[in-house]
Amino acid sequence: MIIVFKPTATESQIQILRDEMSNQELTIQEIQGESTRMLGLAGDTSMLSGDRFLIHEFVERVIKVSEPYKLAGRRFHPQDSSFDIAGRKIGGGAFTVMAGPCSVENEAQILSIARDVKLSGADFLRGGAFKPRSSPYSFQGLGLDGLELLKIAREKTGLPIVTEIMSQEYAEVFRDDVDIIQIGARNMQNFPLLVEIGKTGKPVLLKRGPSCTIDEMLMAADYILMASGGGCPVILCERGIRTFEPSTRNTLDLSAIPVIKKKSHLPVIVDPSHGTGYWDLVYPMALAAAAAGADGLMIEVHNQPDKALCDGQQSITPFLFNRLMQKIAKIRKIVTEEAI
Ligand code: PEP
Ligand code: MN
Repeated sequence: MIIVFKPTATESQIQILRDEMSNQELTIQEIQGESTRMLGLAGDTSMLSGDRFLIHEFVERVIKVSEPYKLAGRRFHPQDSSFDIAGRKIGGGAFTVMAGPCSVENEAQILSIARDVKLSGADFLRGGAFKPRSSPYSFQGLGLDGLELLKIAREKTGLPIVTEIMSQEYAEVFRDDVDIIQIGARNMQNFPLLVEIGKTGKPVLLKRGPSCTIDEMLMAADYILMASGGGCPVILCERGIRTFEPSTRNTLDLSAIPVIKKKSHLPVIVDPSHGTGYWDLVYPMALAAAAAGADGLMIEVHNQPDKALCDGQQSITPFLFNRLMQKIAKIRKIVTEEAI
């Protein structure tokens, strides 16, 4: 951390800061520029809020050098992380696809879709039992009954399940019943939820909040990793952010893939369904995500999109999903064979 002083700062004012810092385990280094005086603070500054120095009128600005996250960052973990979850690999060169309906609606629906996506090569079955709906009048999901239906689908197809948790009260149920616990975009900064889910030690799919920066997502990942003690598997998911562009439901930030890869060792997957909001945009953006180096995809698939209780307009049919999977295999071949 570097504290930059105003040109008018006096020696006794700078001494005030030195004294303030003297009981911290930090190395304080004076830096003298041509016309600027600075103090460099080296050591563990993670507990230090740099902004507090701005309380002094003689401080011009504070430059933070280290990242506000550690466990999710590459600095102390340079190698890519990869996980084996229910016999499926995520990260480390694998390409993992999670597919299924937005919401679990009934047994016939979830079984039919699960069978179809499995035949096309999906690795995980996704499906919401607890749904975070913007309107309280919309279908809210089947809750625990939906979870039971997902378990039946897993039993019958062998596909592990990923589903969203909305409240800490179900942490134990999810720990026992779910292969990957999804933290939805709206809950990315629900810190007590992150901590409780981290404590379960289960694999987590953390979706990017619609108004959150990449650094904020990595800080959220640190909450989970810290709470889990040893570091549970965390998979990051870019699912679009809110911008001024109204043509799509969200703006899918594909540049987040290489940015996250620079900053973090955690695998990153892309959800073009919520990222765009329209079924006909899912196919091209899924291909683009694979080409940009994503470690996988989350795709909404519905056998009757026109009758779906949630997000039918952005769900692709099992037929189109099958075509997409074939095309992705070709893109992946190019991406993995031709490293720069
Ligand atoms: C979902 O995946 O079902 C979902 C609600 O996504 P998001 O949290 O990204 O909106
Ligand atoms: Mn949805």
